[in-house]
Amino acid sequence: MFSYRHAFHAGNHADVLKHAILVQILDYFNHKDAPYWVIDTHAGAGMYALDGEWAGQSGEVIDGLDRLLGAPQPPELITRYLRAIQDFNPDGVANRYPGSPALTLHALRAQDKLRLFELHPTEIEVLETTLRHLGTSRRQVAIAREDGFTGMKRLLPPPTRRGLVLIDPAYEDKQDYRHTLQAVRDGLERFASGCFAVWYPLVQRVQAHEMARAFERLPVEWVHATLTVRKPSADGLGLHGSGMFIVNPPWTLHEELRAALPWLTKTLAQDEHARHTLTSSAQSAVSAGASAA
Ligand code: SAM
Repeated sequence: MFSYRHAFHAGNHADVLKHAILVQILDYFNHKDAPYWVIDTHAGAGMYALDGEWAGQSGEVIDGLDRLLGAPQPPELITRYLRAIQDFNPDGVANRYPGSPALTLHALRAQDKLRLFELHPTEIEVLETTLRHLGTSRRQVAIAREDGFTGMKRLLPPPTRRGLVLIDPAYEDKQDYRHTLQAVRDGLERFASGCFAVWYPLVQRVQAHEMARAFERLPVEWVHATLTVRKPSADGLGLHGSGMFIVNPPWTLHEELRAALPWLTKTLAQDEHARHTLTSSAQSAVSAGASAA
């Protein structure tokens, strides 16, 4: 069950998409002084050494973050993300890659809180060390060694009634698709105005397609972005693309993604199959209206 280690994938094309959107949402939340909570149901280790054994072995960062560094005219979504990465690498060399807990802490103000769930015994140890190094306070951040799908429920709604739930499983277990969909449904029952951001891999699995279609039928506002960087391999190994589904997104997110996705596709393309999609509840209501007319 515990074979997944995010260090192999840190800074790859999927992290770029996920974390650029995460940083955008938090930046939007920070436009108002009102406090908010972030609940990260699958936290990972928090920080990854890009020159370390694992990331070095897989080299996925080379076709991810590395391609963005120095690429001309990055759009706002990417500039903001790169600025956050640079803040963790003040010597100008991208040696450390911040995971979702570190990126969130980078954005949080004193009045905001972070709640983290992680099950892997080693990842949680590294996460605790990472948080200690980042100098977090126990009042602001709490880690639970607990199933994030169920643990998040007792935190909703957060006392602040403002918040983001990031759901980022590894999907090694195909039940994760069902659990993710159910977590968003349960979450919305408890916290209808909450922002929920879900990452998922583009894979040839019926569960992945069904989850994405079920998300788009939710009676809420959403934005759905996918980024494919290459043709799927014949053996199904490796990740050729991923998607982010965001419920109750910042109103600025769709426009920022519209500007960023063509640039990202061009910059991260590994072959001529690279492409992106961007859909939203607003468009789907328009096209449903058009087909009903
Ligand atoms: N969110 C992290 C980031 O963006 O930096 C990466 C998370 S990684 C894709 C998924 C993590 O979820 C792994 O570290 C894994 O050990 C952990 N995990 C697996 N099942 C879990 C569960 N049911 N509840 C909480 N964590 C779980």
